[in-house]
Amino acid sequence: MRKIVFLLLAGAAIIAQSGAQSASALRALPGAEAALVQSNWFWAGGQILSLAIPALVLFSGLGARLRHWAAFLARGNWYGTITLMAVFFLALNAVLVLPYDVWHRYAVRSSFPGAGWWIGEGIGFLVRCVAAALFYWLPYLLIARSPKYWWAYAAAASIPATFIALIVLPVWVDPLTTSYKPLADQNLYTEIESMSARCRVAHIPVFVGGNDTTVVGLGPTSRIILGTDLLRGPKDQLIFTVGHELKHYLLGDNYKSILVIFAILLLGFYLTHVLGNALIARFHARFGFSELSDPASLPLGIFILTLSWLCALPLFNAYGRHIEFEADRFGLELTHENHGLAQLELDAISMGDVPDWGPFFRIFRATHPTDGERIRFANSYRPWARGERPVYADVCKQPPAQ
Ligand SMILES: [Zn+2]
Repeated sequence: MRKIVFLLLAGAAIIAQSGAQSASALRALPGAEAALVQSNWFWAGGQILSLAIPALVLFSGLGARLRHWAAFLARGNWYGTITLMAVFFLALNAVLVLPYDVWHRYAVRSSFPGAGWWIGEGIGFLVRCVAAALFYWLPYLLIARSPKYWWAYAAAASIPATFIALIVLPVWVDPLTTSYKPLADQNLYTEIESMSARCRVAHIPVFVGGNDTTVVGLGPTSRIILGTDLLRGPKDQLIFTVGHELKHYLLGDNYKSILVIFAILLLGFYLTHVLGNALIARFHARFGFSELSDPASLPLGIFILTLSWLCALPLFNAYGRHIEFEADRFGLELTHENHGLAQLELDAISMGDVPDWGPFFRIFRATHPTDGERIRFANSYRPWARGERPVYADVCKQPPAQ
C-alpha cells in the first residue's frame, strides 16, 4: 500500500509540473499556466486521498468496527447492515475530504466557500447515500450467490442500473442544484428545429440553465441543455454549439457511455474479485474480516474500483476526446460556423484556459480536445468548400448556400 502511494506521489510530482506548455502560437493569459499546474496538483492530491482513505479504514481495522456498529443498529438485518456501513463510510470520507476541498477552493478563489457551495456539498452527500441504498446491496447479493462469477453478473447488472440513472439524473437529480427552463426564445427554437429537420428529427427538447452546455438523459428524458452565458453570446457561437450538441443527441453518445461504463466496471469488479480475495487471504487479521461477502469489505471494494478507474482514465478520456472531436466536425458540417467555433475557443483562452495543455492534463483530465486544437480545426476544416463529401453527409443535409 505504502509503495502504491509512493509511486503515485512520485508520478504526480514528475508530470504535474509539466501541466502546461507554451509552444503554441496562441498565448495563454499571464498566470493561466501556473493555475493549470496548481489545479493538476490539487487533482492528483484528490485522487491520492480517494485511495488513501479507504486504505486507511481497511488497514486500521476501522472498516470491521464500522460494520459491527452497522449490524448492531440494523439489528443484524442484511440489507440494513450493508446500507448503514455504506453511509458510515461515505460520511467518514466526506468529513476527511472536506478540509482539502475547502483549501482547494480557497487556493483558487482566495475566499472561503459560501452557503451555496455548502448546500451543494450536502445535496451531493445525500445523493451518494441514496445511490448507496439503491445499489450497494446488489454486488453483495451476487457475491453470496455466485462467489466465482459475481463480478461478471455485477457488471451486467450495471447496464440497466446506468440506464435508469441516466434517465433519472436530468429529471430528478440535476434540478436539485440548478434550475432549468424550457428555451423561451421562439426564433432560436425555430432555427434549431430547421437545423434538426435537415437531420430528419423534430421537436427536440431544449432547456436553458447552469453554466454547461450539454446533452443529458436517455430516451424520453434526453434533452439539450444550453448554458445561460451561451445565450447571451454571439449568434454564430450559439448556432455552432447547438450543431455540436445535436451530434451527441442524434448519434446517441449517452447510450455509448453505458457500454463504456460497463467495460470499466467489468474490469473493476474483476480486479476486486481477484485482488480483493488475494488481499483478504494475506491481511485478514488486520482487516478484521475474512470474506469478500462481509459488508466490512466495502472500503476494499472502493479502493480497488477507484484504482481501476484511475488506470482506465487515460483510455476513457481519449475516447471522450474522440467523441468531442467528432461532435465539432458534425457541428461544422451542419452549420458551417467555423468562425463561431474558433471565436468560442479564443474566448475560453481569454477567460484563462491554456491553449494547449501538457501530457498530465491530457492523459488524466482532458475530456475535450484543447482550445488550440479546436481553433486549428475550425480554421482548416471546410470539405464542402473543396467539393469533398462531408463525413456526416448521410446523417444531415448541408445548410442552404448563403
Ligand atoms: Zn460535446
